[in-house]
Amino acid sequence: MELVDTHAHVHFPDYELDPDEVLAAAAEDGVTKVICVGCTLPDSKLGIDMAARHDNVWTSIGLHPHEGAQYVNDDDALQEFRTLAAKPKVVAIGETGLDYYYQNSPKEDQKKLLRFQLNMAQEFDLPVIFHVRQAFSDFFAVLDDFEAVKGVVHSFTGTMDEMNEILRKGLYIGLNGIMTFTRDAGQLEMARQVPLSKLLLETDAPFLTPKPFRGTICQPKHLAITAEFLASLRGESLSDLAAATTKNAQQLFKI
Ligand SMILES: [Zn+2]
Repeated sequence: MELVDTHAHVHFPDYELDPDEVLAAAAEDGVTKVICVGCTLPDSKLGIDMAARHDNVWTSIGLHPHEGAQYVNDDDALQEFRTLAAKPKVVAIGETGLDYYYQNSPKEDQKKLLRFQLNMAQEFDLPVIFHVRQAFSDFFAVLDDFEAVKGVVHSFTGTMDEMNEILRKGLYIGLNGIMTFTRDAGQLEMARQVPLSKLLLETDAPFLTPKPFRGTICQPKHLAITAEFLASLRGESLSDLAAATTKNAQQLFKI
């Protein structure tokens, strides 16, 4: 069995485990490929470094919607960020998107930063890793101007209508450990309905550790637990789920 963790932050400077050990442990448990996901300019660079040091690691570069206010008027930072897109093993832009739940940055700043990164994705022909929380109608409206963009809505916990709209836009759905501990029956029903051809798996490590390891630091090897949980929830064999989601990840990110 082979799994791809399409969303991890083991390269964050404050990740409390040794990334080298964690990546080796992941490979032993069948998580043979990991994509580090950037949220700021500095950790996008760290993701590139991590990918350079590990054969089984790739990276995205991104400016998280929380960072909108910090970057949106900083032309020097944005120019430097742009140059990262051409670096080796950069396979996606993101995470970018809109977060109206925390709204750490004004909505207009978030939208500008999202558009900036969508333009980059088009220019460099890279898929996009989206973070969207309580902002789907504005998100879909922005996406309408970028019809050719490919990507995934990561850590999806939304409604069936939102899922259907995501699928209509041709995007993938990324599910993670949340599904193992949610008490929301609607979310579980949604997780059952995601077409296997559009499903990606992720940990979002160090966050969202799946049951029964809640309270410990999430790491890519925990993906196997989420995969097992989803296979049983969806009535699929683990090997079918692993094979399909791995193929999806390889196709989207060209890894
Ligand atoms: Zn994340």
